[in-house]
Amino acid sequence: TPALHVTEWSDVVDGWPRLGPQSEKYVRGVVGLATGSATYPGAAVLSVAGALAGPTGLVRYAGTAAAEVLHHHPSVIATGRVADAGRVQSWVCGSGLGTGAEAAAELRTVLAAPVPVVLDADALTMLVDGSMADRLRRRDAPIVVTPHDREYARLCGEEPGADRVGATLRLAAWMNAVVLLKGNRTVVGTPAGRAYVNPTGTPALATGGTGDVLAGLLGSLLAAGLPAERAAALAAYLHGLAGREAARHGPVTATDVAVALRPVLAELG
Ligand code: AMP
Ligand code: MG
Repeated sequence: TPALHVTEWSDVVDGWPRLGPQSEKYVRGVVGLATGSATYPGAAVLSVAGALAGPTGLVRYAGTAAAEVLHHHPSVIATGRVADAGRVQSWVCGSGLGTGAEAAAELRTVLAAPVPVVLDADALTMLVDGSMADRLRRRDAPIVVTPHDREYARLCGEEPGADRVGATLRLAAWMNAVVLLKGNRTVVGTPAGRAYVNPTGTPALATGGTGDVLAGLLGSLLAAGLPAERAAALAAYLHGLAGREAARHGPVTATDVAVALRPVLAELG
């Protein structure tokens, strides 16, 4: 039987990077996002919103939705291509990115960077291509993949099924990556067989764009230096709390979830 841990608030308190008097933006960490497209600029804006809520000191955006990102978030440094983005301590890739030749080239550039990466949405679709999956297995730096059930099925050829912990651990072992399987009880699993079940969240999160906010927040935690499995478990937990907080005020949009991360994180001091 796998080692199973239900994430608790005390895990967040213990793992959260806090500001000290000597904190400096580059020391806090720089997160890069290769997300969104002309078709889905909102995915870029939302993933950036998730990253900005996290503990990093700087957010860089690389993609074709730079104008929309800057309109909503002027504190971001934006550029067109991953290769031109400058130094980051983590990459988030895939949300709303598309799956064409340009998107595949950006994903390859991200995978070649020696930093932790979050792969979501269209990046997962592109991994079905065997050459992309090989690049992944050859990577030394940590990888977190964040599929929902359909993305899981596309990657594995079968649905997660009733044993969601087992399904998560199988994919983690196969990909040699941390897997965050989204859903009612989000599960995080590692190649070594450790699993974390998330007790927060609400079905109100089942609305467009909330996964993009999660991917951005997770990227921020990785750039701040948290180990991949802890970053994934904490991001799921905090995102779930923010969903509940947002739902207290009425029907939830993904923007509300990003906004609600602030009062949730304020409790961490
Ligand atoms: P995505 O499908 O990528 O937009 O991500 C959806 C987000 O909403 C993930 O964080 C899921 O865990 C969460 N979510 C979706 N459905 C539910 C549900 N029924 N209960 C709790 N959380 C959910
Ligand atoms: Mg999604």
